[in-house]
Amino acid sequence: DQARSGKQPFAVYSPETHADMADALRLTDELHSAITAGVLSVHYQPKYNYRTQTLSGLEALVRWNHPQRGMVSPQRFVTLAEEAGYIPDLTRHVLKTVLADQKTLCANGFDVDISVNYSGRLLSDDAFNAETLSMCQAHPGRICLEITETAVIEDPDTGLKAIDRFCAAGIEISIDDFGTGLSSLSYLKMIPAHELKIDRAFISEIEQGQRDALLVRSTIELAHSLGMKVTAEGVETPTSLAVLAAMGCDMAQGYGIARPMPLDALLAHLASFDARSLGEPKMELRAS
Ligand code: C2E
Ligand code: MG
Ligand code: MG
Ligand code: MG
Repeated sequence: DQARSGKQPFAVYSPETHADMADALRLTDELHSAITAGVLSVHYQPKYNYRTQTLSGLEALVRWNHPQRGMVSPQRFVTLAEEAGYIPDLTRHVLKTVLADQKTLCANGFDVDISVNYSGRLLSDDAFNAETLSMCQAHPGRICLEITETAVIEDPDTGLKAIDRFCAAGIEISIDDFGTGLSSLSYLKMIPAHELKIDRAFISEIEQGQRDALLVRSTIELAHSLGMKVTAEGVETPTSLAVLAAMGCDMAQGYGIARPMPLDALLAHLASFDARSLGEPKMELRAS
C-alpha cells in the first residue's frame, strides 16, 4: 500500500486505523453499559512497609471482565473512559466499592488504608470533588487519592486548590508514577502530598542500571526532605527489595510481594502473609 511504499510522507487513511477506531467506539459503548450496570470490579494490591514490616495500605485497581474479551487492560479502558467523559461515573463506582470493602476488611480485623487512583481531569470537576469529599469525609485518614504529577502541572491553580480541600478533609494525597511526567520541582514543593510513588520503570532497572539506582536514591532523599513517604512501585525481585530498603525507601508494592487480587483472595492473603518474611532492611548499606 501507498503508506508503506514510502511514496507518501504520511498516511491519511489506512484500513487498520479504521478498524481500530470502530473497535474503540464499540468498546467505549460497552464500557458505558458496564459502568451503568455496576459490573466493574475492584482488585487490591497490598503495600508493605519494610521498616516496620507491616501492611501499610492497599491500592484499589479497577477491573473489567468483558463477557467476550475477558479482562480488558485498565490502561486501555481508563483512557477510553477519560476520552468519553465517563471517569466521574467510573470513579464513583470504585469509591463506593472501596468504602464498602474497607468496612468488610475492618470487620475481619484488617483496619487498613486504601488508595484510589484519581484521574487528573477530575481535579477541575468541582461537583465531583464535592461528591468525593462527602463520600470520604466519614473516614478521615483512611482514603488516599493517587494523582499523577502531570495532572497538577497541567492546571496548577485548579489542581492545588482541589488538593488543599481534600487534605483539609483528611483525605491523603499520593503522587503516582513519579518520574514519568515532566516533573517540576517547584510544583512538587507545592503539593501537600503524604506519599510519592516512584514509577516502576525506574525500579525494574535498579539492579542493573547505576543511573536508575542513583535517580531512585536521590528521589527518596528529595521526597523525605519534603516530608513525604516513598513507595516503590513494581517491585518484582528480592534483590530490588533489599536495594530499596538499603536506600531508605519506606514502602514497597509489586508482583514480587503480592499481586492485585479480589477481596476474598485478599482476606486469605492478609490472614496468612507474614510481612517479616520480607526480611530485615540492611542497616549497614543504608549508612553508605
Ligand atoms: P498505577 O496506578 O500506576 O497502578 C499500578 C499498576 O502496576 C497496576 O496495573 C498494577 O497491577 C501494576 N503492577 C503492580 N505491581 C507490578 C509489578 O511488580 N510489575 C508490573 N509489571 N506491574 C505491576 P493495572 O491494574 O493494570 O492498572 C494500570 C493503570 O490504570 C494504573 O496505574 C492507573 O493509572 C489506572 N487505573 C487502575 N485503576 C484505576 C481507577 O480505579 N481509576 C483510575 N482513574 N485509573 C485507574
Ligand atoms: Mg496508582
Ligand atoms: Mg503508579
Ligand atoms: Mg500509572
